[in-house]
Amino acid sequence: MTSHGTASHDTAAIPTPGDRPVVALRPGAHRRVLGGHPWVYSNEVRMDRAAKALEPGGLVRLETHDGRALGTAMFNPKPLISARLLSRDPEAVIDRGFLAARLARALALREHLFGAPFYRLVHAEADGLPGTIIDRFGPAVVAQINTAGMERLLPDLLAALDEVLNPEVVLLRNEGAARTLEGLDSYTRYAKGSLDGPVELMENGVRFLADLREGQKTGWFFDQRANRAFVARLAEGARVLDVYSYTGGFAVQAAVAGAAEVTAVDRSQAALDLAARSAALNGVAERCRFRRAEAFDELQHLGEAGSRFDVVIADPPAFVKSRKDLNQGARAYRKLARLTAGLVRPGGFLFLASCSHNMEPGLFAEQVRRGLHDAGREGRILLASGAAADHPVHPALPESAYLKAQLLQID
Ligand code: SAH
Repeated sequence: MTSHGTASHDTAAIPTPGDRPVVALRPGAHRRVLGGHPWVYSNEVRMDRAAKALEPGGLVRLETHDGRALGTAMFNPKPLISARLLSRDPEAVIDRGFLAARLARALALREHLFGAPFYRLVHAEADGLPGTIIDRFGPAVVAQINTAGMERLLPDLLAALDEVLNPEVVLLRNEGAARTLEGLDSYTRYAKGSLDGPVELMENGVRFLADLREGQKTGWFFDQRANRAFVARLAEGARVLDVYSYTGGFAVQAAVAGAAEVTAVDRSQAALDLAARSAALNGVAERCRFRRAEAFDELQHLGEAGSRFDVVIADPPAFVKSRKDLNQGARAYRKLARLTAGLVRPGGFLFLASCSHNMEPGLFAEQVRRGLHDAGREGRILLASGAAADHPVHPALPESAYLKAQLLQID
């Protein structure tokens, strides 16, 4: 047995198929994997001393309890999700060429979907690259690696990215709670090139600035692309409120679509400053106002002041960060629906979103319904949607469709 004992990032450290350690499942535990699921949970693994001693994230040959091969996986004995399947072929060679093929497939899909090079290029399992998020901003890409397995493959992944796309800048935003669960540290660094400020991107024909290094997550939320376009179509001549506006994705697109007046509210001055610059880039600054405030306070004030809007948008951060926050988070969505619905003039529109992984679509819909009722308003759902097509979902992981959104007309 060779190299899984080294913590090296040397590409030569990847074991070849023949000398990979074997990880066996418990009796019966292979059925889900055989049914197409890409994960194995720790309680499904025969977690003997040898398995526990494996280097986090190393490649293994996954087998049933009685020695039948299931495929090639990345294995980490620590987290709840212990094995992530890379290939159903137990002899698969996992190298730069393998990763380049997956990247090329992901790239071909995005080029088919979109006319400009601004999108989520890789969305983890659904693109066959577990633990990997890559967003593309023209010549620059931002990657977030969330598993020990992909962290070990990082040198090959970066080489594959050069082969397939040859970006000028590769920024690693390797931060977040998922890494901690995998036993990984947090860091941000350039793997290639560097940036000296925000980059420009184009979405739905509108120009924006995104700060890839300092901004939230990867700097821009591509997941709302289609929803922003839909909402913008309702905005002509409208008075629009966008709470949790971040860098103005909804607000500026509504203004460009002809809104009479747009108010964007966020607690981050840096985000609002970028939003204001984007509004100026598109020549709509005079119809946009950017207000730094706490969302619930501002919604309350606007309600008390009798303000009414034709279109209200609320796309907040995840209120449910973990399962134990579910009830509290659900109440926050209900309150948000109540406060925002109260600000919509009769006949106007309300767009609400939740990016909480732990909030199921039915539960989100229930909070929206209750919030409207609390506000004494009625209406109709025009659109129930999720993330845009560059955030595909693995068929066995429907719960990874984290974004839920509803667009309603309010009477
Ligand atoms: N709608 C945005 C994305 C929102 S991300 C888009 O389309 O790109 C969530 C935003 O909520 C962040 O910009 C964050 O600064 C802001 N935020 C978080 N908590 C807040 C609060 N209590 N009040 C106001 N803004 C808040």
